[in-house]
Amino acid sequence: MMNHQWVLVARPEGLPKISDFAWREEPAPATGEGQVLVRSILLSLDPAMRGWMSRDTYVPAVPLETVMRGGAIGVVEASNHPGFAVGDQVQGMLGWQEYFLSDGKGLAKLPALPIPLAARFGLLGHIGFTAYFGLLELGQPKDGETLVVSAAAGAVGSLVGQIGKIKGCRVVGIAGSDEKCEWLTKELGFDAAINYRTENLHKALKAHCPKGVDIYFENVGGKTLETVLNHMNDFSRIPVCGMIAGYNQTEPEAGPGNLFQIIVHRIKMQGFIVTDFLPRAAEAVPEIIAWHAAGRLKYRLDVTDGLANAPAAFLKLFDGSNLGKVVVQVSAEN
Ligand code: NDP
Repeated sequence: MMNHQWVLVARPEGLPKISDFAWREEPAPATGEGQVLVRSILLSLDPAMRGWMSRDTYVPAVPLETVMRGGAIGVVEASNHPGFAVGDQVQGMLGWQEYFLSDGKGLAKLPALPIPLAARFGLLGHIGFTAYFGLLELGQPKDGETLVVSAAAGAVGSLVGQIGKIKGCRVVGIAGSDEKCEWLTKELGFDAAINYRTENLHKALKAHCPKGVDIYFENVGGKTLETVLNHMNDFSRIPVCGMIAGYNQTEPEAGPGNLFQIIVHRIKMQGFIVTDFLPRAAEAVPEIIAWHAAGRLKYRLDVTDGLANAPAAFLKLFDGSNLGKVVVQVSAEN
């Protein structure tokens, strides 16, 4: 049994290249005492990986010549560990590879839930909890308020907007194509969507947010942040989830020239990492599943078949060609 892997071999300059990774093959590891062998089923690909490829952040950079880090769902194929049995479905940092040998640390058994396996990434996990806690804890949405979300048609953004609607907000999404904007308004119930590539963002925000903006859920940064800052209301909130516009920049862009707005409007701007909220995941799961079952919280997946195609799938996150949560089907579920 062979284990295929993507190993990080170069630190990217700007946009990552497929050649920053190398495809390797080695025999699948033997399962020693106290160990579990997991076969990967679904690998999650995330914008944060761009940072992990380059530098130490809230986690250390991935060392060169090691398997690229990545969260995945898999199934236990062999176990010499009392906590895991063959056939258990598990989640953890399995990496960009087909088989993962674990001592059980950091490996979580998936609790039985009335959702398909893929929804563990589309609705729950780091995506769902980022949207849920980022909006509800940091954004503090109230009935009748206006919520603006950037990267709104993406995995996190699409959930944020729908949760905003559930909480009674007027929701305006910012996304990179007419197709994405149409999905937001026609399918997900956003009140408006702005194509930032073809529309003037300032004018569009003025038109779609007549009472100003109470919450800006920040996924993009850069010029988008600067423009939205000029529309924020007194005592408004900016949960800072991501700043993807800057992830591939080789030189840091000048910061927004209008940060003084934060004082003028007493804006609360706070960054967060989803792991801050993982201990509270049990609060979110029943609510998210109930909203989904009621048709009020939808998700979509952008599935690429085969681990061999993982680098190409990863790059979709940066040109916006992904439609939904980017995952790789590494092997069949059964
Ligand atoms: P998405 O599914 O939203 O995919 C990324 C999207 O970002 C693309 O589809 C594209 O959409 C948009 N984008 C890419 N480059 C740019 C750019 N230069 N300017 C504007 N938009 C751009 O990914 P996720 O939902 O997984 O992640 C969304 C954000 O949330 C990211 O910033 C990520 O880092 C952050 N995040 C943070 C977490 C945390 O714990 N703080 C956890 C998970 C995610 P479009 O077509 O609209 O341009």
